[in-house]
Amino acid sequence: MGLTDIQSRIATAATAAGRKPADVTLIAVSKVQPPERVEAVLMAGQRIFGENRVQEAAGRWPAFQARFDGIKLHLIGPLQTNKARQAVEMFDVIHTLDRPKLAETLARLADERGSCPDLFVQVNTGAEPQKAGVLPDDADGFVAQARALGLPLVGLMCIPPVDEEPSLHFALLAEIAARNGLTGLSMGMSSDFESAIALGATHVRVGSAIFGERAYG
Ligand SMILES: *Cc1c(COP(=O)(O)O)cnc(C)c1O
Repeated sequence: MGLTDIQSRIATAATAAGRKPADVTLIAVSKVQPPERVEAVLMAGQRIFGENRVQEAAGRWPAFQARFDGIKLHLIGPLQTNKARQAVEMFDVIHTLDRPKLAETLARLADERGSCPDLFVQVNTGAEPQKAGVLPDDADGFVAQARALGLPLVGLMCIPPVDEEPSLHFALLAEIAARNGLTGLSMGMSSDFESAIALGATHVRVGSAIFGERAYG
């Protein structure tokens, strides 16, 4: 199945880059996939999953969590402030911290709950107007601001522009992370996770290459 193939490609890419396969976490992106495909991947042993909508995740993960131990959920899609509470209750990691208002809301919830998911700051490396994420020039300031709020930042995340060479964006993200003392790099999807690993990805987000194409609509 797709899962074992992707696991071995991750291991090969890590080894080729002089890295340990265990230093790359595979997030199986299950958004929009039918439950039977998700269940098959759970049965194969995968426990780390990515969803891009709070609502969709809330609709189906509690039932899987009742049947399978050790599931970790990563939010990889944009987070509206009014969904932040539900998101911190359900997700172990949020990859899409991208604005001061959300940082303040998450800090307030962290104080209240005494815990907070691990957080990645999303960087809009291509400065695309329609895309979420802080601009590369604003990243250092935003990281400092989030740290001052006491938020548990673990790294940076990006989604390169579809029509550009992703490596340039992965390299830029790695550079911004390094100068900010952040070790986590959430980058690489089905089509480019091997080059992301070559450039230091610690978390790859792979959907269709594991589950098959998403059928929208
Ligand atoms: C859907 C999605 C992915 C997975 O994309 P594939 O091309 O199916 O691997 C990764 N990251 C984000 C942010 C996504 O929304």
